[in-house]
Parts: sequence; C-alpha cells; structure tokens
Amino acid sequence: MSIQHFSKSRYCSCIQCPKILWLKEHLPDEFDDSVVNQAVLSTGNDVGDLAMGLFGDYTEVPYSEKLGDMIPATQELIDKGVKNICEASFSYDGCFCSVDILKNLGNKKVELYEVKSSTSVHWIYEHDVSYQYYVLTKLGYDVQKVCLVHIDTSYVRHGELELDKLFKIVDLTETAKSKLTEVEENIKKFREYLKSKTEPECNVGGQCSDPYECGYWTHCAVDMPESEEPTVWEIASLRKNKKQSLYDEGLITFEQLYNAGALKGKYLQQVEVEVQNLPPQIDKKQIKNFVGTLSYPLYFLDFESFNPAIPMYDNSSPYHHVVFQYSLHYIEKEGGELKHKECLAYPGSDPRRQIAEQLCKDIPLNVCTTAYFMGFEKGRIKELAALYPDLKGHLMNIHDNIKDIMIPFQKRWYYTKEMQGSYSIKYVLPALYPDDPSLNYHNLEGVHNGGEASNTFMAMQKMDKEELEKWREHLLRYCELDTFAMVKVLEKLREAAK
Ligand code: SF4
Repeated sequence: MSIQHFSKSRYCSCIQCPKILWLKEHLPDEFDDSVVNQAVLSTGNDVGDLAMGLFGDYTEVPYSEKLGDMIPATQELIDKGVKNICEASFSYDGCFCSVDILKNLGNKKVELYEVKSSTSVHWIYEHDVSYQYYVLTKLGYDVQKVCLVHIDTSYVRHGELELDKLFKIVDLTETAKSKLTEVEENIKKFREYLKSKTEPECNVGGQCSDPYECGYWTHCAVDMPESEEPTVWEIASLRKNKKQSLYDEGLITFEQLYNAGALKGKYLQQVEVEVQNLPPQIDKKQIKNFVGTLSYPLYFLDFESFNPAIPMYDNSSPYHHVVFQYSLHYIEKEGGELKHKECLAYPGSDPRRQIAEQLCKDIPLNVCTTAYFMGFEKGRIKELAALYPDLKGHLMNIHDNIKDIMIPFQKRWYYTKEMQGSYSIKYVLPALYPDDPSLNYHNLEGVHNGGEASNTFMAMQKMDKEELEKWREHLLRYCELDTFAMVKVLEKLREAAK
C-alpha cells in the first residue's frame, strides 16, 4: 500500500499523529514492537470472529493479501443479495476499508457495524466509523446506520452465549454524518503531510500514548538525555498531563525538576532520593505499628487469574477475573518453619469451585492472612463467597482477616531509590534483595509476571499432556515466588522495625 493510500487503521494512526505513518514508511525499523500487545490483538480477533454471528447467518469475504481482490468478492455477495456480509471491502480514491459487518438492505442501502473488544466507545472509534461512512457514502451507498459494537460487561453468562446480550450496539450515525467533511479534509491534509521528503517536526506529547502507545517514542523524544539519567516520564503515578506540562517547560531530568522545586510529596521524594543519592527512607515507628498488627499462624496468599473478554463459564461476565491458581506460604508460630501449599486447576472447566474449596481447607478460620495489594485477593474471595453460599462463612472469614503487606511501601514508610517511585512487588523485591537470584523473577522459566501467567493458563486449554505439565510447573514456580517474596519482604520490615 503506497503512503498515499489509506485504510481504517492507517487513517486512525494519522488521527493520533500523522508522523506515525510517515515514520512507518520511511523508518520502519525504528518502531519498537514491544508496544504491541499480542494478547490484546488476539482477544480482538476472537471477539471479531464471534460478533460475525450477531445478526444470524452471514458470509465472510475471504481475506486476501491483495486487498483489492476483496472488493469484487464483496460486490458479488452484494449483487447476490447476501444479507450479512463480514469483512465487506470497498475502496474510494485510494481509501480502502473492510467493514466488520455490513447489513445489505438492497438497492445500495446498507448498515455498517464496527466491532471492538473494548467495553465502551473510545473517541478514536468515532473516527474509525466516520472513515467507513465516508468511503461508502462517496461510493454512492445509502448508509442508513453506522454502529459500534462493543462488549457489554453487565452480561452474565448462563448456558449458551447470548450474542445480543454480550454485545452492546451503539448508534454513531449522527457522529459519522457530522464528520463527513472532516474526513475528506483530513485525508487531503494527511496526504500533503506524507509527501514530505524530510522527517516532519513533531514534539512528543499526549498524542504519543493516546489512544495507543506509539512505538516511535524513543525515536521522537529527541530532548531526552543520552545518559541513563531518569526523566520526568519516569515519575511514578504522576498524571500524564502534569508530566507533559513539566516536559514542555523544559523540566526534563530529575536534576532539573529538583532544582526548580517543581514537585511535592511523594513525587518530590522520588526525585530527591535519586538526585541526592539518599539512603533508604524508613519510618521505624509506623513499620513497627504495622508489623504489630500481624499475628501467628500467619499466611501469605497470592492468586492468579485470567479475565477473558468472552466469558467461558456460567456466572461469569466479560473481562471478569477467574481465579485458577493460588500459592500459600504459612508459618504456624513465631520462629516456626516456613511451609507451603498450592493449588492450580486444570484447564477445561470452571476452576473456581476447586479453588474455593481448597482455599477453605488450606486456610483455617480466624488466622491472619497477608496479601500484597489485598484488594485483588479480597475482591476475588468475595466473588467466590457470593458464588458458593455453602462456603461463604469460611471464605468471608478469610476475607475479613486479610492484611496488606504493600501498605508500608505504598505509604512510603519504607522507600529506597531502587523502588523508582513504585510500590509494586516487582520493584520492591529487587530493591530489598538486589543480589538474591532465588528472588529474581527473570530467573524463572516460562512465566515471569501475572500477564504471562494468565496467557499461559488460557493457552493450556489447547496443550497436549506433556506440554501442559511443563507449563503447569512454570505456573506453580511463578506463583510460589510471589508468596515467598512476601515472606522475604516481611522479614525486611521486621528488621527495619527493630
Ligand atoms: S512518538 Fe509521538 S510524536 Fe513521535 S510519531 Fe509517535 S505519536 Fe508522533
């Protein structure tokens, strides 16, 4: 496709920032692929495939590398009077588009449905559907409706999937109509822009991550220091627009930010500790109070879950977290031996009952359980309790006795510069134990983070027995490290409290 030709995705890239398309054409190797989330793409494909049946029987235009071949194939289906055509493809003046679902009403009357795996209407989708409306309108079609189809998170599966409830249809016809001239002008403007023989100037800004992370960020952020010196973009949890305005003021490095007195509170602490190379910041009294709230027997719990866009089990909703695994370290009395239990369901059926039952066997009533970022564990336990009334009493007892080991780090009672402003265990653990290979997630095989754990469990649905056992082992060791990390983190807190 020449640089002057558009598709839906190329047009939307230009809406985000026309330089993306210029760079894709001229400097494709500079693009950082790590911004592309394969799991999200795969979810999008699955959702798209499922939505094809939304209006009953349909015919899909076969995909062709030569996109142009899809146009006569579409025409043939329209001429035959096929009612629902998926991937219906058209081109007007170098602007190509494939419509996810086209309702062919006859006499050139059509309705267009764009399917997204999202849970709401993002602003970029308005441009996406408006582009499609433009192409078909210019080709002389009477576009009666342009709609966005997205996932409805309020749907709860009971039995067979009900596509009309799983998907929500939002009518964007008026938006698309109102943008008709804008699309035409944009295409003209982008074509001019893309003619440039030299790299167009464009400062990095909000457009670099909205709506999507741009893979050219490293290429475009020319003002960044060449050294490893941290910059405003690395200040943890600071709002993006605040970072942007500091950057625009020329306050880029931590040194510049610190000297200008531009930050307060925890943001200042992160910058100050780094610039002044300060030792660990420890609030002994607060940590002592916190550690004093924990009692033996003491349990350390961590869940792994996956959250499919299309609910796989009864009583689950789109993107609902389904727990499939936990790790549990425990110490029965002060100075006692560290013991471990674990539970990992086999794929193929709803893992939640097994997890709930085993959890009640493994954690006795009225004991102190810890989690790191307890909101997640508590949330899942509450859901299990609602799902299984016979286990509710025990599950809610566990729920009510959970304490969060993250708090001393979140409140900055314990902070070191290696934590880089974060209180995630993935930062806290290496900061506290920089040289311990047994606590290094990079040394694990196969599964190194929660995202990989959930992708692995999903992939296990299709694995043969041998492969399945290998990946089960990877999952078990990953989750075990999560709770062992909590044990070690607590050891450091206890030391700090002395
Ligand atoms: S990094 Fe930002 S400025 Fe550069 S191409 Fe991407 S969106 Fe445009």
